[in-house]
Amino acid sequence: MRFPMTLTRRMTGYIIKNKMMGKEKFPLVLMLEPLHACNLTCTGCGRIREYKSTIDEMLSVEECVGAAEECGAPVVSICGGEPLIYPEIGRLTKELLDRKRHIYLCTNGMFMRKKLHEFRPNSSFFFNVHLDGMEKTHDMCVERDGVFREAIEGIKAAKAAGFLVSSNTTVYKETDLNEIAELYDFLTGLGVDGFMLSPGYSYSAVQTRDMFMSREEIQEKFRLACALLERYNLMMSPIYLDYLRGERELMCTAWGNPTFNPRGWKGPCYLMTDSHSKSYQEFIEKTPWEKYGYGRDPRCHDCMVHVGYEPSAVLGGNSKLGDGWKLLKWQMVAGTRKPLRTVSIHPSGGNGNGNGNGHGPGSSAGGTGSGKDADREVLPILQ
Ligand code: SF4
Repeated sequence: MRFPMTLTRRMTGYIIKNKMMGKEKFPLVLMLEPLHACNLTCTGCGRIREYKSTIDEMLSVEECVGAAEECGAPVVSICGGEPLIYPEIGRLTKELLDRKRHIYLCTNGMFMRKKLHEFRPNSSFFFNVHLDGMEKTHDMCVERDGVFREAIEGIKAAKAAGFLVSSNTTVYKETDLNEIAELYDFLTGLGVDGFMLSPGYSYSAVQTRDMFMSREEIQEKFRLACALLERYNLMMSPIYLDYLRGERELMCTAWGNPTFNPRGWKGPCYLMTDSHSKSYQEFIEKTPWEKYGYGRDPRCHDCMVHVGYEPSAVLGGNSKLGDGWKLLKWQMVAGTRKPLRTVSIHPSGGNGNGNGNGHGPGSSAGGTGSGKDADREVLPILQ
């Protein structure tokens, strides 16, 4: 089973109810950004640059919960910024769980050990840890040594405490997919429950554009990625993967994953900003949806990201006969996750010491190991 049964049941009931009510546009996942402040300055992140002038602003818990209730999406992805530096992240998560929302808390993992006591394990709650490769690559992407090791210590602590954990990886032009397979083996060995993978998007706010792929490059990369990575518990739908491989067309359904942040409802999507609406209703009614998507707006030309296209097979107009069965089979049959051999993972970059904020390996309370232990670890890996 790829997702907890409660999520599948709630999501199916929610979609059927909305379709029976004749609703044309309804959201599946709320992208909730309680704040934009972050402890890192990753090269590929547009948020800290785009919202530089309002980086100190944050939503209250009541505003966050109000947004979830206003739009009604059954899943809330708490992102940002770094949500674990949001002062009331524990209370926010509890309030959303009390309202039967399924939560992905997207984090860079640096504060997981420190903040773990604010959460309780729940089958509707995932820590979703962003990792772009093994130690050397990841620390280079986030521009700080020691981040990979601390995130791994956070994952270990969360798994030991009984939490569900997934990982999220952005694929860039230079991403070595063999290294991603190595990463997935490593994480599978730690008990990580599932993996998300998405092509990077060239935000206008990001200076370094040559790291991002064209549409054709994304399709080529994901044909290879699917062949290499399908044995793992990938948490993207098979229809979205078909799309990423260039094997079917989908229309953008950005309204399926609306974004709410301190400036309001961000339109048209998580990636591009043309407006901020005061209410969800205004966001849905006033955004000129017909102007966005591949072939309509040049900024959308090389976008194949999950926030625009993952909900499309269910919500968009491109569904095919057999999609329902394909989705059901995918949900029931998770990746095989069989380690075939073991290798040692040596620290291949960085000095293992966090810098700048006192949250490097071994500095947080409640951890399960030290950076040195990671040097000696023997990890399962497939050939
Ligand atoms: S295609 Fe991508 S960038 Fe364009 S509106 Fe959809 S999600 Fe946003």
